[in-house]
Amino acid sequence: MENRKIVIVGDGAVGSTIAYTLLLQDYVNEISIIDINKDKAEGDVLDMVHGLSFVSPKKVTAGTYDDVKNAHIIVITAGVNQKEGETRLDLLKRNIKVFNSIIDNIKPNLMPDAVVLVVTNPVDLLTLHTYKRLGISSNRVIGTGTVLDTSRLKFLISKEAGVDPRNVHALVIGEHGDSEVSAFSVSTIAGLPVEKYFEDKGEEFYEELHEKVRNAAYEIIKKKGATYYAIGLSTAKIIETIMNNQKSILTVSTYMQNEFNGMVNDVYLSLPAVVGSKGVERILHLEYSYSEVLKLIESSKKLLETLSSCTECNKA
Ligand code: NAD
Repeated sequence: MENRKIVIVGDGAVGSTIAYTLLLQDYVNEISIIDINKDKAEGDVLDMVHGLSFVSPKKVTAGTYDDVKNAHIIVITAGVNQKEGETRLDLLKRNIKVFNSIIDNIKPNLMPDAVVLVVTNPVDLLTLHTYKRLGISSNRVIGTGTVLDTSRLKFLISKEAGVDPRNVHALVIGEHGDSEVSAFSVSTIAGLPVEKYFEDKGEEFYEELHEKVRNAAYEIIKKKGATYYAIGLSTAKIIETIMNNQKSILTVSTYMQNEFNGMVNDVYLSLPAVVGSKGVERILHLEYSYSEVLKLIESSKKLLETLSSCTECNKA
């Protein structure tokens, strides 16, 4: 059987949930977990291999960077979470240090077609940094971006509409974070624009949905300290798409070059993109409303502002 190997760097709440989600799938047959806390990785591996009699055949190990040599996808979840009161810039500076050593360990071992998938926050800026420091083609360096936020928006719309979330085609674009944009103008329920489906609802209704999506992580972190199940599923969906060359359209964080008449340039953020075995294949441009485009450009500016204040960043 063809080897389908994933390396996960960082075995905290998010990394271990991604590993467990992959354990249940059949599009992966080898999972290697790397963490500076070796005991945690070894403990999780033992816990998971004890369930191998219930799932499709797999090898699960606590690995080293040697495992990158024949891995198809390297998922990076290592790093720290935002502390209360900490700015995004502070978080970026702390996680950049973690990332530099990880990237330098991955780089010499990467297969020519391997895809690097970044999950750690701030995901868009860390994906940009990873791309620049790795120096490989941008289509092979992806961030989970707003795939999770998009799923949250689909769920909230489906609840209001009383329909299956899988029949909702909604999008969150821009930064994965405070400046993200819920693109209601291009969101539909089975092809019917949401604004027609909810014809009696005013602007406040959409504002509320957007705020719920934007604040979802804060709400969950306040209640239980971290978010990991839905990001586990979001990451597994991206991995399935790459492993099976599915060409699914996902709002992954993607390298932008002169998009929106050059107003969005040299930055990673999320727009719907066709994803296949080589990573991002094509960015789709939908007919967003004028105000959504302005918000997206603003989102890109905010990301670049944070980046320009980070002296540790982009030292490729
Ligand atoms: P966590 O603290 O539970 O886990 C982080 C893990 O990274 C720890 O096990 C730690 O030992 C490991 N680590 C630290 N430095 C390392 C290194 N140099 N090499 C290998 N491993 C190292 O945190 P978490 O809750 O799992 O979150 C991880 C990241 O994921 C955070 O930045 C969080 O904000 C982000 N996150 C992103 C999304 C998204 O949608 N992109 C969603 C949820 C969480």
